[in-house]
Amino acid sequence: MPNEVSGLFSDLHSVLLDAASIQERVASMAAAVERDFAGKEITVIALMDGALFFVADLLRHIDLPMRIVTMSASSYNGTTKSSAEVRLPWPVGLDLRGQHVLVLDDILDTGLTLAAVMERVRREPVASLKSGVLLEKRRAHARDVAADYVGFEIEDEFVVGYGMDYAGKFRNLPCIGILRLEGEG
Ligand code: 5GP
Ligand code: MG
Repeated sequence: MPNEVSGLFSDLHSVLLDAASIQERVASMAAAVERDFAGKEITVIALMDGALFFVADLLRHIDLPMRIVTMSASSYNGTTKSSAEVRLPWPVGLDLRGQHVLVLDDILDTGLTLAAVMERVRREPVASLKSGVLLEKRRAHARDVAADYVGFEIEDEFVVGYGMDYAGKFRNLPCIGILRLEGEG
């Protein structure tokens, strides 16, 4: 009887990024953020739930004063993928006036999520605005959006682990992998 962890691994077809590679890259991204924001106070907007582990690891490497705000963006599809809309509940009382804002998400896929969040934040009188993602898929994004910090570029495949889920599971995998397809040995 396999334990829970080996059970998760055995559902993977392959490991795309192992835990050590992720940690190394996240630390170097943190160094870049720390350099760029030196002397400033940051307001981080972390997009839940996917970016949970990414922001937890990244932010603990950054030796600057910061506030951390979480938001949950959800997309609901219209008739086509590109007409999908993003719902973004705005935290009550959130004041971004004069703030140096860094929006963080797990993965840039169609770009709809990040574009919607950036558009919404830009309506506030922020001092500056940047964005970072752990992963960016090599594909045409539906929206013209580019993140300022990108951990890894990956092929257009569905990945799980390190915060990213399939049907709510696999977020607690320390690595990022591709799921085994139904019936695959
Ligand atoms: P976008 O709006 O850029 O298409 O998608 C961004 C969101 O879709 C991400 O924040 C993530 O929650 C989800 N997503 C996109 N690609 C993947 C993937 O390969 N695996 C998982 N688990 N989620 C993904
Ligand atoms: Mg997400």
